[in-house]
Amino acid sequence: MEGNKISQSPKSEKLALSGLSLAELEAFVKEMGLPKFRAKQLHTWIYSKWAGSFEQMTDLGADLRLKLAERAKIGSLEQKHLEVSKDGTRKYLFALPDKKLVESVLMTFQDRDSLSACVSSQVGCAVGCSFCATGYLGFKRNLSSTEIVDQVMSIQRESGKRVGNVVYMGQGEPLLNTENVIESIHKLIEQVGIGGRHITVSTSGIIPGIRRLAKEKIPVTLALSLHAPDTMTREEVVPITKQYPIAELMESLREYQSVSNRRITIEYVLLAGVTDSADQARELAELVRDINCNINLIPYNPTFDESGVAYYDRPSIDVQRRFANLASRSGKTVTIRLERGTDINAACGQLHNAYGK
Ligand code: SF4
Repeated sequence: MEGNKISQSPKSEKLALSGLSLAELEAFVKEMGLPKFRAKQLHTWIYSKWAGSFEQMTDLGADLRLKLAERAKIGSLEQKHLEVSKDGTRKYLFALPDKKLVESVLMTFQDRDSLSACVSSQVGCAVGCSFCATGYLGFKRNLSSTEIVDQVMSIQRESGKRVGNVVYMGQGEPLLNTENVIESIHKLIEQVGIGGRHITVSTSGIIPGIRRLAKEKIPVTLALSLHAPDTMTREEVVPITKQYPIAELMESLREYQSVSNRRITIEYVLLAGVTDSADQARELAELVRDINCNINLIPYNPTFDESGVAYYDRPSIDVQRRFANLASRSGKTVTIRLERGTDINAACGQLHNAYGK
């Protein structure tokens, strides 16, 4: 859809409304020859009442509901599978209109009222981080803003629970799909009603994308998946380091901060014998010293090769704590991430569209 005009291809395909802005819904009703107020009605049913079908829209006449159903559908995603972890985490497998698959995760926290949705921004991923199951899938395509927003709406419709936080940490590198991701953030804020401060965009370090996001001046949290403080290790774990070196990346964070004034989150995966040494903890502390940030340590969640062997080992609790103590000498708050959904492969780095494997 361009400039709020409806563009659909192929012609026979129904237009998905969940994920459209009010202006886009107005363009849709205009094209159908309907009065403008119908767009507001559709908007309320989709975003406030989480309607899953036109049948539920009881203040629209039966004829109109039928007409709408011929031309449009509610969501663009078809739920293919749902797995629920013993900690309550829900992992969804969604089919897109072209049958490609993506995963999204809903996380609940006992100490927090609001729920967090982790959304995918691409089918597969080209970055190929060495510990990540999505990277092994390779890159297939970018998701549209509608497909990103409809992950949140589909989760709300299925679970009956309001999503309060959205993290772009599912499949794909959001800042290699920057324009659609930015459009989806605006839609989450303006259509779905999620506060910008409750949205986190996580990047492996795509410098042009960080600069583009800074220009947009939306109050989201930026998370950098740093994963190693030295070039040699980072090139192995996050291969895109060859294109975007660490020093320039840190400079882009400072630029981002000078515009946004928001605290950045530094994500750091702890891989035994690879990224968890005392020297690396000290180097990390030094690297981020002049950046306003929190450090979030992620003990490695197992991902397996075809013969079922894990690619890395997780460091012991003692090693994790030693690393956290040394890194906190930077004066930053250092936390060790709470594990969510590891038993259903829904944790960080584990999403790979294969259930029960
Ligand atoms: S961690 Fe993120 S950026 Fe890296 S391969 Fe996985 S999905 Fe892509």
